[in-house]
Amino acid sequence: MIKNVSVIGAGTMGNGIAHLFAQHGYKVMLIDVNAGQLKKALETIGKNAGRQVSKGTLTAEDKTLLLQNIQTGTDVAKGVSAAELIVEAATENEALKLKIFEQMDAAAPPNCILATNTSSISITKIAAATKRPQQVIGMHFMNPVPVMKLVEVINGYATDSFVTGTIVELSKKLGKVPALANDYPGFVANRILMPMINEAIYTLHEGVAGVEAIDTIMKLGMAHPMGPLQLADFIGLDVCLSILHVLYNGFGNPKYAPCPLLVNMVAAGKLGVKSGEGFYNYSGGTKDLIVSAKFK
Ligand code: NAD
Repeated sequence: MIKNVSVIGAGTMGNGIAHLFAQHGYKVMLIDVNAGQLKKALETIGKNAGRQVSKGTLTAEDKTLLLQNIQTGTDVAKGVSAAELIVEAATENEALKLKIFEQMDAAAPPNCILATNTSSISITKIAAATKRPQQVIGMHFMNPVPVMKLVEVINGYATDSFVTGTIVELSKKLGKVPALANDYPGFVANRILMPMINEAIYTLHEGVAGVEAIDTIMKLGMAHPMGPLQLADFIGLDVCLSILHVLYNGFGNPKYAPCPLLVNMVAAGKLGVKSGEGFYNYSGGTKDLIVSAKFK
């Protein structure tokens, strides 16, 4: 029975995952190496829960309980010692994830399930860094986690069907719709999404159209809720670039080569919403879409 959940990484996804579990009554330990990031995550969770209260989708009492269910810490080993499930949502970097899984494996109780929210990195490779590959699985939430319905559940080569069943049922308990995928680069979601985002960036880079036109065409023409450039800003341009590298290296196909403009923007620290600027400028918040001065 899962009651205690540790979430590793308190960035864009980690705060949403912690929020979701805490709202559903789980005790959450949210861990990040960066204490400032933990503070920011708690602020974001408080703000988002406040928004749910004003919309009438959460009571004020439930907001208090939600916040009481979350503890934070900076030490992975300490933070996973009582967990029945760990959801790793640290930076999309293979070497880092292998190291974190080794640490988690050494410190977590023997029955604990080790899940990763990776967008693209091999679950099988991550599992091989542990002594319990049968208990390692992909639990891929979408951004923003409290809102988006999908959980892409990815089986590694060794994942036990009992573990898959547990994560599928758990996803449903969290009000989500699980969908199963096998372990190939980018799984399903990002194998299809990232080439579209990359092509949108190429379209901008080659001067076919401007930021607003590209997003308007995809929004109104294809009934997408937001354009691909705005979506890339929301995901984080560094995350998009990492996923494209995984696709490119994993398939050895030049069609996945990241657009040089994306590479440059990440090198310049223009990462989208989280850094305040990407294709759009977010210095005034995310409500009004203002095209970055660079692309005007
Ligand atoms: P992010 O850059 O916003 O946050 C990553 C966090 O991990 C940072 O706060 C960082 O301090 C922390 N971190 C780094 N090393 C750590 C360590 N050793 N121990 C603990 N924490 C550590 O990234 P994100 O966008 O939240 O992505 C996290 C994961 O979720 C990635 O695997 C990403 O591919 C995946 N994901 C992202 C999105 C998205 O839209 N951004 C969607 C689905 C899945």
